[in-house]
Amino acid sequence: MSIDYLYRQIIMDHYKNPYNKGLTEDKNYLTTNLHNPSCGDDVTVQVLVEDKIVKDIRQIGKGCSICCSSASVMSVTLKGLEINKALKTIDSFYNLLMNKPYDQELLKGDALAYSGVGRFPARIGCATLPWKAIEALIIKHKENNNG
Ligand code: ZN
Repeated sequence: MSIDYLYRQIIMDHYKNPYNKGLTEDKNYLTTNLHNPSCGDDVTVQVLVEDKIVKDIRQIGKGCSICCSSASVMSVTLKGLEINKALKTIDSFYNLLMNKPYDQELLKGDALAYSGVGRFPARIGCATLPWKAIEALIIKHKENNNG
């Protein structure tokens, strides 16, 4: 079984059975929506930060399998992390997609399934959209709370 096949399976599993899907009405969550015009992807991400920890992530995506699965993988990867560690993990994911060295201590598990996406530059925006959404929310949280 090739690694490409395995990675495709991971992506399709998250696409078909996404984790942390569905939004909450809870006002303690920060919410943002991002759109990727080149593919039509649309993702809404919510995050609950308490004591500098990413306590919960909710997500809902419409669009291609790369974007929707990536929202699920993002939620699983970042939930429970301290916020600065989460930001570094997000950077590592961007580096992975751009075939740059990334922090293998931070980024592991299903997120690695997107390593092949870098070969298709048009799809990088699909894979990174949910990660850009939560990155913006964590930065906003830090600004609201003086870091
Ligand atoms: Zn897409």
